[in-house]
Amino acid sequence: MSVSRNDWTKDEIIAIYNKPMMDLLFEAATVHRQFHDPNVVQVSTLLSIKTGGCPEDCGYCPQAARYHTDIEGNDLMTVSHVKAQALRAKASGSSRVCMGAAWRNVKDGPEFDQVLEMVRTINKLDMEVCCTLGMLTENQAQRLAEAGLYAYNHNLDTSEEYYKEVISTRGFEDRLQTIENVRKTNVTVCSGGIIGMGESIEDRAGMLVALATLNPQPESVPINALVAVEGTPMEDEKPVEIWEMIRMVATTRIVMPQTQVRLSAGRMSMSREGQAMCFFAGANSIFAGDKLLTTPNPDVNDDMKMFDMLGLIPQKPFVKAAQPETVEAEQSKFSALGEKPKWTRPGHTIERNIEASQKSKV
Ligand code: SF4
Repeated sequence: MSVSRNDWTKDEIIAIYNKPMMDLLFEAATVHRQFHDPNVVQVSTLLSIKTGGCPEDCGYCPQAARYHTDIEGNDLMTVSHVKAQALRAKASGSSRVCMGAAWRNVKDGPEFDQVLEMVRTINKLDMEVCCTLGMLTENQAQRLAEAGLYAYNHNLDTSEEYYKEVISTRGFEDRLQTIENVRKTNVTVCSGGIIGMGESIEDRAGMLVALATLNPQPESVPINALVAVEGTPMEDEKPVEIWEMIRMVATTRIVMPQTQVRLSAGRMSMSREGQAMCFFAGANSIFAGDKLLTTPNPDVNDDMKMFDMLGLIPQKPFVKAAQPETVEAEQSKFSALGEKPKWTRPGHTIERNIEASQKSKV
């Protein structure tokens, strides 16, 4: 019987990742069955509630204002628009709505108040609500919790060592600080990363060490394959092989047995057989809808056909944790503090990010 451990080392994780594929799959599937129903997969819908124009320089992201991509930016969506989208997602089998805003960090004010209202509205639809809004103070995390937020997503993206090759506008420690702020509330933590950004297997293992040694481990870990978008610094990265994705999912499942492992970006280039192997290896969540923030994703009807074919059942909401209560804005115990925390500006340079931004000016 496998147990949850928080003392994983990088060497142990590398050894798991490099196991012969059949041994790796068997072990991951065995762990998966100890902690989860292997035929149940959570379906989440990711909504981009504010697209583009982000001041950060994440090398993989088409929403960074400094790169020249074809992304059409939009201002913060209205609460009624978000509600309509959430109802549509619910009708097509989603139990969770994740709202993403292209912000460096949350700022107190009318836009954050509008997001809090979105959280209340979706929670009242009896769906799990998740947000990914950038860095967050403890007070902001408390206000989200009070509004009825179920999960907060804040990806570590990669290892601490490789982080400096991907992003120069904030530090790895900022990510950990936001996760810690969320942990002070009853909101669950969703944090994972991206493979295919030029990182080594050691970096993949390093990211998993950082996640698996958190105590408690994140309730949800998204594993993304880079979708290389033209105009971003990573436009020329080679596509991730399905076998790498399967290894990453299986290793994540083994080192974080209780977590919900999300098969996230990159599914457009995976066959159904490849995705089925990922489910066998322990993935038990997908994002549905034809767009993942800004990159293409399989159509929900195709996903439902895949579910039928594989005998998979969409997970109901709130099976892993109770539905949070929603406190209305007028009854709130918390007020906006208007804090201006000093998130780091590490100041190192990343040549490919600078080149991509100069190219866009030309
Ligand atoms: S990943 Fe998020 S923080 Fe980074 S550039 Fe894109 S929107 Fe901004």
